[in-house]
Amino acid sequence: MDYQQILEEIHTEVKPVITQGKVADYIPKLAAVPLNKFGMAVQTLDGKLFSVGDADEYFSIQSISKAHTLILALQFAGENNLLKRVGREPSGNPFNSLVQLEYENGIPRNPFINAGAMVLVDIILSHSKDAVQTILKFVRDRSNNQNIDFDKEVAASEKSTGFRNAALANFLKSYGNLENDVEDVLDIYFSQCSLSMNCIDLARSFMILANHGLSPWSGKQIISKSQAKRINSLMLTCGTYDAVGDFAYRVGLPGKSGVGGGIVALIPGRLCVAVWSPGLNSSGNSLAGTQALELFTTKTGKSIF
Ligand code: GLU
Repeated sequence: MDYQQILEEIHTEVKPVITQGKVADYIPKLAAVPLNKFGMAVQTLDGKLFSVGDADEYFSIQSISKAHTLILALQFAGENNLLKRVGREPSGNPFNSLVQLEYENGIPRNPFINAGAMVLVDIILSHSKDAVQTILKFVRDRSNNQNIDFDKEVAASEKSTGFRNAALANFLKSYGNLENDVEDVLDIYFSQCSLSMNCIDLARSFMILANHGLSPWSGKQIISKSQAKRINSLMLTCGTYDAVGDFAYRVGLPGKSGVGGGIVALIPGRLCVAVWSPGLNSSGNSLAGTQALELFTTKTGKSIF
């Protein structure tokens, strides 16, 4: 399949919508990102890489990092322990909802809403003293790029306005669903969200999920085939905010998005695809990115269905 030709067609077709979204402005540093960016990369399991536009430009991956920390937390705690503390149902609510967390007694609906991701951080921190470095090493190894780093300015910017996240973390603590200090969990959470990566890194960082748990770079089995299946299922049902039904309907792939405008999706056994365009739709998913992925599955005729 000529993925390069398809990516170029997609780039041309989405151009009119690239500037129609709105950058996330509740994190001051993200508000300054130019709206006119678009990049897309495909990494196939048979080792081919295709890319278009700003695919090698670094941006803030934000909530896409929750897929990485879910893999780590699963490795550390095991499935049964994890599922005692985080659910596996779509939330149908904004990713930072306080209301739902209260009426469900401090058990976040799923690992991809902010409260769920904070529980993942707590698990990682309980198993690893230097949780920030553990997360960084994991993402670098998964992407096969040791130059990936956090963006300390983005993390500080989010911390300075992260009152709602602080409220969520305090709620979790009050319900006994955080073992560690609220401040520590929040600092690690803001750091993981500030990871700066490009579309190529991101597509590569999800390869174990497309490859039944096996790293294509090291040849090692990082998670089991069954765990990869479960994480992909969670991304399909919970990975793209409360527009997850619309995303599944239009794209037909498991994926994880972030308010930096990135989305990573994958076809098990075949490829990972990452797209970035910072203008978001009203649900917080990249506007042009969602359209690009819809065009990708339409033009290639490949999805999981
Ligand atoms: N750091 C962002 C927050 O906590 C992540 C949001 C996102 O990408 O969904 O609000």
